[in-house]
Amino acid sequence: MRATETLRRADLLQRATLVLNRSWRPVHVTTVRRALCMVFRESARIVCPESLQTYCFDSWLEVPIQDPSVAIRSPRVAIAAPEIILLANYNRVPCHVAPFTRRNLFLRDDYTCQYCARRGPSNRLSVDHVKPRSRGGSTSWENCVLACVRCNARKANQTPKEAGLRLLRAPTRPRWTPYLNLRPTQHMESWSRFTPQSKRKANRR
Ligand SMILES: [Zn+2]
Repeated sequence: MRATETLRRADLLQRATLVLNRSWRPVHVTTVRRALCMVFRESARIVCPESLQTYCFDSWLEVPIQDPSVAIRSPRVAIAAPEIILLANYNRVPCHVAPFTRRNLFLRDDYTCQYCARRGPSNRLSVDHVKPRSRGGSTSWENCVLACVRCNARKANQTPKEAGLRLLRAPTRPRWTPYLNLRPTQHMESWSRFTPQSKRKANRR
C-alpha cells in the first residue's frame, strides 16, 4: 500500500461518526475506527444517511461505495466509512451539562457577534459581559456573549441599553451534550437531521 494511501486511511479511521441511541437521538461522537468495531461486534448498525436504512457489518460491505474518497481499503475488501451509527441497546440520553468555556461560548454563539450579528473568526470576536464585570456581572452562560471588536468597543463598561445595543437573544446555558463540542467543520452534512446545531446551520444556508 502506498504511503499516501496509508495516511488517507488513517485519517478516515479517525474521522468523526455520529452515534444515535435506539430512539435515533444523538448521544455521542466517536471515530470511524471505533464505530466499525462496534458494528462488527453487533452492538451498533450503520445508518445510510440518505435512506436511513440500517446495516450490519456484512450487509454494509455489500453496499456499493458511491464515493471512492471515503472507502477504507484492505487488500481484500473495501468498506465505506460510516457517518452515522445506531446503537443496538443503549436508550438513555445522557444529560451532560455543557461546561462554561471560551470554546463552548464560541460554539453556542456560532462565531457571531450577539449585538450586530456579524460572523467572524475567533480573533475578531471577544467575550463580552452583558452586565459589566466591574458592576458585578458574573462570568457565566447567562451573562456572557460574543461581541465583535466594534460592538465591544461601543459597549465598553455599559449595559447594552446604556450603549444603545440590543442582544440578538438572551444568553442561556446551552442544552447540549458534549458531542456538540466539536469544531463546526467537524460536523457532517448527514448529521443535520439529528443534531440541533447542524440543523441551525443548515437552516441559515
Ligand atoms: Zn458586533
